[in-house]
Amino acid sequence: MESIKLDRRQFLRVSGASALMLSLHSLGFLGGRAYATEKVVREWDYSKWEDLHRREWTWDRVTWGTHLVDCYPGNCLWRVYTKDGVVFREEQAAKYPVVDPTGPDFNPRGCQKGAFYSHMMYNPDRLKYPMKRVGERGSGKWKRVSWDECLSGIASGILDAMEEQGPESFVFEMGPGNGGYINIFAASARLNHHVGGTALDLNSTIGDFNRGIYESVGKFMFMDSVDGWFFGKLLLIWHMNPVYTRIPSYHFIASSRYNGAEVVTIAPDFSPSAIHADEWVPVEPGGDAALGLAVCQVLIEKGWIEVPFIKEQTDLPMLVRMDTGRFLRVAEVEQGGRDDQFYFWDGEKGELAKAPLDTLKLPVDPALDGTFAVTLLDGKQVEVRPSFAILKEQLNRDYTPEKASKQCATHPDTIRRLAEKCDRAKPHIQVLVGWNSPKYYHGDLIERAMCLLLALTGSYGKKGSGIRGWNESLFEGALFQTSKPSRGWIGATIRMARGKKLLNQLKAEDPTLTDEMLSVKLERLRNKKEYSHVPPAFLYYFHSGYKDAWDNKAWHCTTMKREFPEYMKEALDQGWWEGLTLPYPDQEPRVYCYYATSPARKNRGWNKNILPSLWKKYKLIFGFETRWSTTALYSDYLLPCAGFYEKLDTRFPTPHVPWLTLTDKAVEPPGEAKNEWEICLDLAGKIEEEARRRGKTKFVNRKGKEIDLEDLREKQSLGCKNLDEIMEDALETSVSLGNLPRGTDLAKMRKEGIVRFVGLSIFDPITMHLSTDIKPDEPIVPLTWHTGSKKLPYPTYNRRLQFYIDHPWFLEAGEQMPVHKPNPKMGGDYPLTLTSGHQRWSVHSIWITDEQLLRTHQGRPFMFMNPEDAEKRGIQDGDLVKVYNDFDSFEIHVKVSPAARPGKGSSPGQVIVYHAWEPFMFKGWKSYDTAIPGMIKWLDLAGGYGHLDYYRWNWCIQPIDRAVAVEVKKA
Ligand code: SF4
Repeated sequence: MESIKLDRRQFLRVSGASALMLSLHSLGFLGGRAYATEKVVREWDYSKWEDLHRREWTWDRVTWGTHLVDCYPGNCLWRVYTKDGVVFREEQAAKYPVVDPTGPDFNPRGCQKGAFYSHMMYNPDRLKYPMKRVGERGSGKWKRVSWDECLSGIASGILDAMEEQGPESFVFEMGPGNGGYINIFAASARLNHHVGGTALDLNSTIGDFNRGIYESVGKFMFMDSVDGWFFGKLLLIWHMNPVYTRIPSYHFIASSRYNGAEVVTIAPDFSPSAIHADEWVPVEPGGDAALGLAVCQVLIEKGWIEVPFIKEQTDLPMLVRMDTGRFLRVAEVEQGGRDDQFYFWDGEKGELAKAPLDTLKLPVDPALDGTFAVTLLDGKQVEVRPSFAILKEQLNRDYTPEKASKQCATHPDTIRRLAEKCDRAKPHIQVLVGWNSPKYYHGDLIERAMCLLLALTGSYGKKGSGIRGWNESLFEGALFQTSKPSRGWIGATIRMARGKKLLNQLKAEDPTLTDEMLSVKLERLRNKKEYSHVPPAFLYYFHSGYKDAWDNKAWHCTTMKREFPEYMKEALDQGWWEGLTLPYPDQEPRVYCYYATSPARKNRGWNKNILPSLWKKYKLIFGFETRWSTTALYSDYLLPCAGFYEKLDTRFPTPHVPWLTLTDKAVEPPGEAKNEWEICLDLAGKIEEEARRRGKTKFVNRKGKEIDLEDLREKQSLGCKNLDEIMEDALETSVSLGNLPRGTDLAKMRKEGIVRFVGLSIFDPITMHLSTDIKPDEPIVPLTWHTGSKKLPYPTYNRRLQFYIDHPWFLEAGEQMPVHKPNPKMGGDYPLTLTSGHQRWSVHSIWITDEQLLRTHQGRPFMFMNPEDAEKRGIQDGDLVKVYNDFDSFEIHVKVSPAARPGKGSSPGQVIVYHAWEPFMFKGWKSYDTAIPGMIKWLDLAGGYGHLDYYRWNWCIQPIDRAVAVEVKKA
């Protein structure tokens, strides 16, 4: 038969094969110069219709791929199919081995966004060339420039800032959005390390710091691998919506029922995850602490608690002075005693017994109840009680199910039923909490109540138990690339030798410190003295509009006794944040670089808090970007970056999915885009060149650290010529540190795609927070070094799971114990409460403009609202409404749904916007964040108390965004 040639249109008409149609349909939405794609369509020779099927499954190349975005925990391995320089499709690799034969494996991993990344690669909003703004910021007037012009302009701006205001005036914000791992640490993080800019703490800027878990456990960056979920007997989905946000991992929850588990979702709305639970426990938004404490009250009243666990692992037997409300310190009773060591009461002998600092092993059987008299060194007699007794009294007084029900709106019978479930399931209760709770003003109290419930039932350190935070660790070789002086294991050992020396000094000063505590101390020391890694709160307070919101006492909790500026002043005067208030209050921020993030979308109230003030102070704003995000549109220079299948990298690692996951370069990036490592290398070269031209290559920052821009390009390169060498370097270090098995190199990664982690090292506190051995045939179970035979103390102030915090501010707030407090009226006195969560159709905003995905939902920003609340306001489904409060307003369409909680009496009605819409999708580019003032809880400024002290990603101060007071009317 004669060969028939079809042009692209004819081809699309003729093709009826759905899968192929899908692939080529994507080609119909090509953006700009997607030359390679067009080439495929033009040059294919279709002989006859059957060829469509025959050739559907022919490829030039298959590579491994994953998605370098915070679809936490992500790390799904995909096969990426390429033909004629175009990625056509991807497919779940499904090659995860069986780890624990008594539970399900990880196969297959992947979500609908991942299956669509090849589509996004060729989206019209892809950024392909270096760009320079030529009109006003945000006016949309741009000029395509050469890499040389772009990088020279940026280098010049950075040098101006360094000369005029100092290195700290260069503000660098990294996010988890669209970068990678070696393409972050060996690239921008390393460059920033060399030029001495201020790096904003990632976790503070996104608000994912689980404050209450941290306050209770001394850390929050620990969790089981997600296959551990299967082994829980009671799964409490609480401040999480895994049906939307954990798509590849959700099957472990669903199938846990085969293992006899019950799944309970606790949420104000009948959330997508409530639909699939065995029971939905409705709760007032932010009422969770009252609910959790009421469950604790029932557990204690009924005696359904694990007493040996409580005595050994928690601070509940520790003695508290009744006159001061503070722990009884050894220094108060014994000459030369320590101020950070505390007492138990030995019930048998009727005397004090020191709580050991270096072990959780109990020296005596401590009393949990009673009141005892103690004579202090000065002869004064005081009464002391175990904190458990104080807790019990508080729970019986304020949190019986009937009393709590008035605070959380959950029926008392439901609370009692939940307690019964906890009793049946203990010690295999898991709280699946996400990063919703930290975004509530009193999210710390909510999480402290959750942690308490788990401690009372002994649900830590066992397969299928515990609570979870966030963790990015175990590929430490890449982290080392931020600051190690030279390539390879030698460079790493030089860095480690410095660390080792400091560790030895710290250990000599206090031999009771565990490796984990030492590792944290080392990180803090380095950061305060050497690095410039800081929470952004001080930049916001001293240089942006956040100050106006934070200083507004009416928007804080009514229990805040003093004015906010007083607390800020005291925190700084006490030196709790010394070395962390960068750029300094008297130093003008001059240059802003964002990387794998989109602050215009993500910062709470950006439109009012940042745009008119801080944004204007920056004389230069540039971003590493793959697409025309809203932030890009407000920038000065744009650096076009390679996408997930256009460069070599790994997804940021996590114990949740404990394999290092490779993504390889399948195709060239479009236009003139490059990988971030190459861009940073060239930028380093330009900064060096410009510094030489100005005759100023040396700077000293205010911490006295010398910044030397001589040979910056060479230093930046780590002696590597390309990303392959950078990856080899990171792998080699990780193998030597014991994170990865021997023999792991790039060739092996390219062969296998994934390699399972095998161990921890002391040089990264985040890794150490797992505190467990990684076993080859079991899910990762964190904290076993505390709960198991090692009995290592926790890194809290009192070295136990800490439920009593006697910091003076916590006492002032009445929050020494977990309590319930209602949401403050953030935004004013309005009858509705605005809540949020991640949406189903995009990871952050990366997929939000994908036409195909937009067609699977409304395709425009919308807000859920209860029909009763809508009717009261004359609002119908699909109406455009104005959402407003005293802070600001935005417009959005309404989806009327009984799933949203209705307002009843003084209880506010709930309106829900699942976020990640681009601000440019809203009228006037005012996104839903526009009405969020972005308050911080004043208590988060506390410090100088054991673990209440900042280090990377921990003890962060973060603007919050849930439960903002609003009203709604038709637009
Ligand atoms: Fe997995 Fe994330 Fe990719 Fe989805 S986007 S497939 S969750 S890695």
